[in-house]
Amino acid sequence: MTETIDRIRAAKTIIVKVGTSTITHPTGKLNLMIIEKLVRVLSDLKNQGKNVILVTSGAIGVGRAKMNLNRRPDSIPEKQALAAIGQVHLMHIYSKFFAEYGQTVSQVLLTKDVLDAGEREANAINTFQTLIRYGSIPIVNENDTISIEQIQFGDNDTLSAIVAVLVKADLLILLSDIDGLYNKDPNKYPDAELIHIVKGITDEIIKACGSSHSDFGTGGMKTKIAAAQLCHEHFIPMVIANGDDPYNIYRILEGEKVGTLFIPDKEVVKV
Ligand code: ADP
Repeated sequence: MTETIDRIRAAKTIIVKVGTSTITHPTGKLNLMIIEKLVRVLSDLKNQGKNVILVTSGAIGVGRAKMNLNRRPDSIPEKQALAAIGQVHLMHIYSKFFAEYGQTVSQVLLTKDVLDAGEREANAINTFQTLIRYGSIPIVNENDTISIEQIQFGDNDTLSAIVAVLVKADLLILLSDIDGLYNKDPNKYPDAELIHIVKGITDEIIKACGSSHSDFGTGGMKTKIAAAQLCHEHFIPMVIANGDDPYNIYRILEGEKVGTLFIPDKEVVKV
């Protein structure tokens, strides 16, 4: 536990993932205040000498708002097209805000099968390493044009863990619309309690996130647990925290008790 906190305090390479609900208003339009704060914090970490990678959802929502579509898109091609439209606008906003703090961003669109995909995995690693060497902040999203997993399951959580594995990150932070992992869904059970520390992905933890497959589409926590499992196996600490306050990132890095901390399998010595 103390070793993990020490590792987090000293973390050099940090992945931060934000969900759609964090960066958009209920209208579907971008929450510029939150994005601005998030960008300021990440830029400041970069100035501290840390390597930062942002994994962001939100392209479909932004595409929908751009096209003034009042209804939810129901077909996969419609969602893919809206993601393609929204992604450009999302990147434009990030690029503009990061530029205000002197940062250069890059866009990386991945599919989850990149891990263990031989040459493609090597290409992704090489690209990330070079972008980090250039001092650019990679902004990652699933390539929705050719992959529908994220569209179907809202699963940029697992993608962010895959990125963490690819770059051998020291920490993954998932910013969500909730304070962390509770022992049951707090939106359904008012007496749900926040779990501060998770040492292993036990049956109890899996149960807290719902057991049926359909929970993937609605719950949201199941994919975060899948991300935690991957991080656990690769010895990467992971934290789920509320994205309403991007300053939570500082608190986590200072070793404060924020959200839910997933302790990795064992401490790792980087080579
Ligand atoms: P985001 O896109 O911001 O990551 P998600 O909607 O994917 O958010 O996931 C967060 C949601 O997961 C919460 O708002 C909550 O309704 C739901 N949830 C289900 N089970 C739990 C649980 N055990 N602890 C916390 N949240 C849970």
